[in-house]
Amino acid sequence: METEKLYYVDQFIQEFPATVLSCEAGKNGYQVVLDCTAFYPEGGGQPADHGTLGSVHVTDVHEKDGVIFHTCDGPVEIGQMVNGRIDWARRFDHMQQHSGEHIISGILCADYHCDNVGFHLGAETVTIDYNADISWEQALDAERKANEVIWADQEVEIAYPDSEELAFIDYRSKKELTGQVRIVTFPEADCCACCGTHVARAGQVGLIKVLSCQKFREGVRLEIICGKRALDYLGRTYDQAKAIGQQLSVKPQDTLAAVERLEAELSAAKVRMAHLEETAFEAIARENEGRGDVLLFQPAMKGDSVRKLADAVAKRAGGLAAVFAGEDGQYAYALVQADGQDISPLVKDLNKALNGRGGGRNGFAQGSVQAEETVIREFFSK
Ligand SMILES: [Zn+2]
Repeated sequence: METEKLYYVDQFIQEFPATVLSCEAGKNGYQVVLDCTAFYPEGGGQPADHGTLGSVHVTDVHEKDGVIFHTCDGPVEIGQMVNGRIDWARRFDHMQQHSGEHIISGILCADYHCDNVGFHLGAETVTIDYNADISWEQALDAERKANEVIWADQEVEIAYPDSEELAFIDYRSKKELTGQVRIVTFPEADCCACCGTHVARAGQVGLIKVLSCQKFREGVRLEIICGKRALDYLGRTYDQAKAIGQQLSVKPQDTLAAVERLEAELSAAKVRMAHLEETAFEAIARENEGRGDVLLFQPAMKGDSVRKLADAVAKRAGGLAAVFAGEDGQYAYALVQADGQDISPLVKDLNKALNGRGGGRNGFAQGSVQAEETVIREFFSK
């Protein structure tokens, strides 16, 4: 016997009494069949409702041959009346997303003569695929039109036309339909065959925000959010912009310009630092003019800087320049042999003696060691 679908009688039923027809233990819990239900089963891109049947939780709902199976975390007594209660926050969110999807899809498919070829109502966002190349500006134009439809707040019409009437209705559909067809109409926006649950008036969608529009297969994939989800998302995004603005002493809507200024300052500082480093390294190199082999200890700096200093010193001193940059116990090193002679045996010994790693060729080596300054000095004194 098919289950009576109360969500088609009234999509706003949140609580209902029903009789338990069967209850069987399965691998994911108990499969419960009722004489009637307001629990929407997964279908048409819309996820299943959650909620409770008496004292047990309904964690999934699916339909097979007109019979609706409620997956429950405990058993209910067969033949007894049970009170069903829908997790309304979850369901209403699904209704806001699904209805919002219809409104913007109706507008886009009419404006760009395309079809909606994919729909996924996810936990975070809703993705919709269209077989047309739609630009970001066009998506934003559809967003504006969709929100105007929401604010006009017209009643949503749901009809079950017979096949003769259906022939005269221009409606969207993802597939060839057989049997009873349910037509959901958002006046001024969309007319579509759909089995999902929808808001009663367009205004209940609240708000539509397009998040992205990316090339996908033969067209684009649009990512949208509606209703409370959109408000929550925009709220979190605003909080972040506000916090960034406080750090930069600007208003939340002026953070981009402030970050661009910061980036320009940082680039200029890097260029200035490179110049200063060059001058400082040249001064250190001059101090070691003609000294031959030189061992230097420096504060921590980037590997590239260690190499540059070793290079400058080797050139002036004329021998092997060994630069160790870091703190006691942990150093980055660069070795440069002025005449380009092979230093690989030395590097091998160094890594072994000083717990290091690294290497190089043609009179140059770079790496790191884990050793105390005194141990390093001792190694080079030999
Ligand atoms: Zn639909």
